[in-house]
Amino acid sequence: QTVFLGINRSDYMFDCGLDGTAALKQIEINTIAASFGGLTSRTADVHRLVLKVLGKTKEASQLLPNNPAKGLALGIAKAWELYGSERAVVMFLVEEVQRNIFDQRCVENELWNRNIRVLRKRFRDVFEQGSLDASRRLYMAGQEVAVVYYREGYVPQIYDEQNWAARLLLERSRAVKCPDIATQLAGTKKVQQELSRPGTLEKLLPGHPEAIARIRATFAGLYSLDEGEEGDRIAATAIADPHRFVLKPQREGGGNNLYGEELREVLEKIKDSPERTSYILMDKIKPQPALNYLLRAHSPLQVSECISELGIFGVYVRQGRELVLNRAAGHLLRTKAIEHADGGVAAGVAVLDTPYLV
Ligand code: ADP
Ligand code: MG
Repeated sequence: QTVFLGINRSDYMFDCGLDGTAALKQIEINTIAASFGGLTSRTADVHRLVLKVLGKTKEASQLLPNNPAKGLALGIAKAWELYGSERAVVMFLVEEVQRNIFDQRCVENELWNRNIRVLRKRFRDVFEQGSLDASRRLYMAGQEVAVVYYREGYVPQIYDEQNWAARLLLERSRAVKCPDIATQLAGTKKVQQELSRPGTLEKLLPGHPEAIARIRATFAGLYSLDEGEEGDRIAATAIADPHRFVLKPQREGGGNNLYGEELREVLEKIKDSPERTSYILMDKIKPQPALNYLLRAHSPLQVSECISELGIFGVYVRQGRELVLNRAAGHLLRTKAIEHADGGVAAGVAVLDTPYLV
C-alpha cells in the first residue's frame, strides 16, 4: 500500500496564566474517528440565523464560514482517486448502534456529489462479507473498496475475535485505511507525551526552529509514568498535589480521565506496579469560564458557567514519500458547563458551538 489518508482533529483549550493572559494549549490529537466535522458545518448557520432573528445583523456577518465536511470529503476523494479504480467505493466503517449517523451523512453527501459511491458497513459485515483477492484488493460482497474510513474501532471492548479478524483483513488489504494502524497508534496519549520530550520535535522537523517553537508553545506539561526515577518523582508529586494534574489512560471517546481525589487514589494504588505505565500525567488546563446557554433536549434553558474546547480538523494524503495534500479543513467548538471535568458531545455533556471573534 502506498497511499495514506489522515483525517485528524487537534483539540485545544485556552489556558489562563496567573497574569491573566490566555494561551491555546493542546488537549489531544484524534487520529481515528474524529467526529462532528459534518454537523458543525451547519452550526454556524444556525447561530447566524438566531443572531439575525434577534436583530444582530452585524454580529451575524462576523461568524466565520466553516465547512469541515467538505474538507474531509476532499481528502477521502483524493485518496479514492489515487487508488485508481473508477468502480471502487468508499466504505464508512460505522458503529453497531449508529448514534452519530447525521454527522457522517454530511461527509458522505459530499462524496456522492463527486460521484463517488459510499457504503456504510459494520465490523461484523466486514467479517461476514469481506475478502481479499490475489493482489489483496478488498471486496465487500463483490464490490471493490478503495478507501476504508473508520468511524468506529477506537474502543478496545469492540475487538472480540471476529472484529479483530475483520480489522486484520482491512489492515492487510490494499485499500487506503483512514487511519492505518500506525496512524491510530500515533494518536495515543503516550505518543503525545513522548513528542513533548525535549529534542523530539527537533528530530522530526529539522531546520524549522520557528515551527518547533510555535508547536511547543501549545504543549501543556506532559509526564511519563514509566518505571524508573523520573516516573517515581512525578507520581509522588501528583499524589501530593492531585489537583494540578489529569491522569490519562490510553483511551479515546471521553470519560476515561481521572482528576483530583480519584487521581490520588488510583495513583497511590498503582504507583509501585507496572500498571502505572499505561497512564500518562498532564498538567491541568484552567480555562476562563464564560456565561452561556446550553440548549439540550429535556434540559431547562438556563445560563451557566461554561468552558469551550476548540478543535482544528486536518487532512493529509501521502503517496509513497510524496505529500499530496496537507491542509486545515475547518474547526469545531464544543462548550460545556464548568462542573464537567470530562466528557464531550457524544457523552451528553457538551454542545456544538460557534466561535465569535472579538
Ligand atoms: P478523550 O480521548 O477521551 O477525548 P481527552 O484528552 O480529549 O481524551 O480528554 C477528555 C476531556 O477531558 C477533554 O475534552 C477536556 O474537557 C478534559 N481534559 C483533558 N485533558 C485536560 C487537561 N490537561 N486539563 C483540563 N481538562 C482536560
Ligand atoms: Mg478528546
